[in-house]
Amino acid sequence: MTFPSTDDLYITDVPGKGKGIIALRYFQRGETVLAEVPLFTQSIVRGNASVLGALAQCTPEQQQEFFRLHSCHGDRYAQALGIFETNVLPCGSNDAHGHVAQQGGIFLAGARFNHSCVPNVNNHWDAARGQLVFRALRDIEAGEELCLGYGRLLAKRGERRAELSAKFGFDCACEACSLEGKALVASDARRECLAMMYSAHLRGSYGDPFEGVGEAVLALRFLREERLPVYESSFCYSGFHCCAAVSDFTSAMSWAHRAFEASRAAFGDDHACYWKDFVANPSSYSDASSLGKRTLAGPDSSLWNVLGF
Ligand SMILES: [Zn+2]
Repeated sequence: MTFPSTDDLYITDVPGKGKGIIALRYFQRGETVLAEVPLFTQSIVRGNASVLGALAQCTPEQQQEFFRLHSCHGDRYAQALGIFETNVLPCGSNDAHGHVAQQGGIFLAGARFNHSCVPNVNNHWDAARGQLVFRALRDIEAGEELCLGYGRLLAKRGERRAELSAKFGFDCACEACSLEGKALVASDARRECLAMMYSAHLRGSYGDPFEGVGEAVLALRFLREERLPVYESSFCYSGFHCCAAVSDFTSAMSWAHRAFEASRAAFGDDHACYWKDFVANPSSYSDASSLGKRTLAGPDSSLWNVLGF
């Protein structure tokens, strides 16, 4: 056991992966497993000199811990910069619209989370408190390894592995990447389909409201089957938008409620706040009643079973 350990989790050697973080107790979905202030941060314009400059402000013990972290860059970068680039986590939001966090930080504990294409932990920057919060994406049992998702998760196994190998220098052997035969074909198909639906969501392209809400239900099913709850609130937004647009406020309210719960679990109360008003009053949404009145359905409606979703 090495620095830092708590009663909740500990850092240890994980076969085939170097160091990793193991849960010492049960964590409920949405619970904070770790909240950590950065050892130091760097802007997106950085180099070995700026990393060494920041390190000079740290204690000798902190410097020692920093140099114990792994670098996957070999001789491509000087050592300090290589370690920084391998372990940096965003202090802000990197979103799928191409917005990149302007600051990245080193977190001596957080850097020890390994990757999984089925992550059970999500990291989200809490700007008000100046700390990175790691939350359980689902219920986690004592003894499970805690993993983040480093790269694109909505992609086929071959694409995910190629990206992880190029950026981080390892061949992913997570449970999704270890699938074979029909199970792998089905997983690849679901993730590819989710990627297409996610990019339609980002473009705000919903098409026919009934089809839009049906796609959101299908996406939730695929996310459940792929165990990827981190995207749940995004697809609930699509369902909410479609229902609110046709003035089906009862269904819109249940989509908003589901989005609120999913957002709170993955990103915390501050982030989930966005949904509070819409749960209470979906007609306050800017695109509410922008299309002709129709009755659709919420995420848990029995209609979807009847239709075979
Ligand atoms: Zn994987």
